[in-house]
Amino acid sequence: MSKRRENRPAPEGCPCGLPAAYADCCGRLHRGELIATTAEQLMRSRFSAFAVRDEAYLLRSWDPETRPTEVDFDPAMRWDRLEILGATGGGPFHTEGTVEFRAHYRVHGAAGELHENSRFRRDQGAWVYLDGDIER
Ligand SMILES: [Zn+2]
Repeated sequence: MSKRRENRPAPEGCPCGLPAAYADCCGRLHRGELIATTAEQLMRSRFSAFAVRDEAYLLRSWDPETRPTEVDFDPAMRWDRLEILGATGGGPFHTEGTVEFRAHYRVHGAAGELHENSRFRRDQGAWVYLDGDIER
């Protein structure tokens, strides 16, 4: 049975866009109860981690070879919505994968988007984020 945090009101839905409460969706990965079985699931959980500013999760889901020492969160930035546009590989039996996405955000009320094709690989069995190409 999943444990819920009763001290915080549940958000409407998970930031990643799936129709589940954060605590039952990406929250389970952030709390270390589950690991992502696909690169897309890891991508969604990392988007949610940016949205809720879970730096520890972002760092541990980052490939050790490309991982920064810290994550700079822009305090003015609000991550609104994630659109998955496509994926290659990244399944339960793959060792590499890519996920193309568009992440929508707001800075001081102005809407923007990040369109990226991210690369993921398995590191000791767990999916990690390697790097990505910004698409324009
Ligand atoms: Zn989620």
